[in-house]
Amino acid sequence: MKKKITIAIDGYSSTGKSTIAKQLAKQLGYIYVDTGAMYRAVTLYAMQQKFIDATHFDVNSLIADLDNISLKFIYNAKKGFAEMYLNGKNVEQEIRGMEVSKLVSKIATISEVRKKLVAQQQLIGKGKGVVMDGRDIGTVVFKDAELKLFMTASPEKRAFRRYKELLERGDNVDYEEILKNVQYRDHIDSTRKDSPLTKAKDAIDFDNSNMRLEEQFERIYNLAMEIIAKK
Ligand code: C5P
Repeated sequence: MKKKITIAIDGYSSTGKSTIAKQLAKQLGYIYVDTGAMYRAVTLYAMQQKFIDATHFDVNSLIADLDNISLKFIYNAKKGFAEMYLNGKNVEQEIRGMEVSKLVSKIATISEVRKKLVAQQQLIGKGKGVVMDGRDIGTVVFKDAELKLFMTASPEKRAFRRYKELLERGDNVDYEEILKNVQYRDHIDSTRKDSPLTKAKDAIDFDNSNMRLEEQFERIYNLAMEIIAKK
């Protein structure tokens, strides 16, 4: 039997990382982990506890409360992917909205938060056979991943994708607001001190601005199969 590998997919917001990662994991029979969902769930918790809103952020109270945050992915067979549970409650819908999107990058700058989530991610992926997407997977979480991809696309394309997604789920959204949010998150994510979003030296650049999903998937799947074949 071929050995399983670790696949790290990093990149800017809304580059379609999760769509590709999910499909790839399904095809390879691997586990898929959406690490953004974990940062989003911690953000939702901080909002519920009133540690953060648009005008204030009580970092110390969040840090003191981190042990009370339990995050779990539970597979939903009907949907075909794992959903995020925060302290036993399914929060998959809530964590995808604009309110969380506006605050999540601030939460993700906190080293104590990152330390907790990275440890959990490393535990989930320790047996390999995992496709993980995020911002620091190839640079921090799994530096030794056999396949690393760095996804990019123009901010406008990314904002439009996100706009369509939110419209489809019935949210009241404004394209310009989403474009601003995508650019704002890019900026915070790539300039923060701890684990900034950056391409790992051994990652493959993947600009999908003008690429159909099938074409992207085929290319990435072939890359993975080449590596697996050599194992
Ligand atoms: O991937 P998604 O857009 O859902 O991620 C939401 C936010 O979580 C990102 O903008 C980033 O601030 C943070 N994040 C991170 N490290 C990861 C995954 C997400 O800092 N590995």
